[in-house]
Amino acid sequence: MSAASSCCTVEDEGSDAYFMSLCVELAGRSRPVDTAYCVGAVLVTSSSRKVVATGFSRELLGNTHAEECCFIKLHEARDSFLSGSPSVRDSASDQLDSAAEAIDRGEDLELFTTMEPCSQRLSGKLSCTARILQNPSVRRVVVGTLEPANFVRCRGVQTLREAGIVVDILHGWEERCKAANRHLQLQ
Ligand SMILES: [Zn+2]
Repeated sequence: MSAASSCCTVEDEGSDAYFMSLCVELAGRSRPVDTAYCVGAVLVTSSSRKVVATGFSRELLGNTHAEECCFIKLHEARDSFLSGSPSVRDSASDQLDSAAEAIDRGEDLELFTTMEPCSQRLSGKLSCTARILQNPSVRRVVVGTLEPANFVRCRGVQTLREAGIVVDILHGWEERCKAANRHLQLQ
C-alpha cells in the first residue's frame, strides 16, 4: 500500500490491479444489449503509468467496443494536439492532451481491458485485436478474463502473442470482469 492510500483505496495507484479496477468500473457503465458484452478498457503509458484514454462498450456511436473507444479518443487527441487546438471530446481533455504528448515522445502504451480483445466481429467491423496491431505503440495488453464463447470463438490473446505483444491475463479478476455481463448467459 502506498502512503496515499491509507483511507479506502484498495489498489495501489499505477498497479495492474488499479487499472483493471478502473476497467471494471467502466464496464459497468456500458448499456447492456443481447448481442454483445459489456467491457471496460483503459490505455496507459508504460513508464509513467498514466491513463491516457478510457472506453466502454457502446460509449461512442456505432456499436463501439471499449478498446475501440480508447483508440478513437487517442487519435482525436493526437490530431488536435498536432493541430494546436484543444481536445473537445470530454472533460478528460487534459489527460488526452498529455496522452498525445506521450505518443509524440514515442512512449509505449499498455491496454487494460476487462475481456480478451475480440478477433472477429459479426458486424464485419475491424476487430479490436486488429486495431491493437495497427497501433505499434501498444506493447502490452492486460486482460481480466478470456472471452466466453457466446458469439464466436475468440483468438485475441493467441493472435496478439503471435504478433509479439506481451499479453497478461490478470489472476483473480475473472468474476469481477464478467459481472457487467449478468444479462447474458455466459458460455
Ligand atoms: Zn472488440
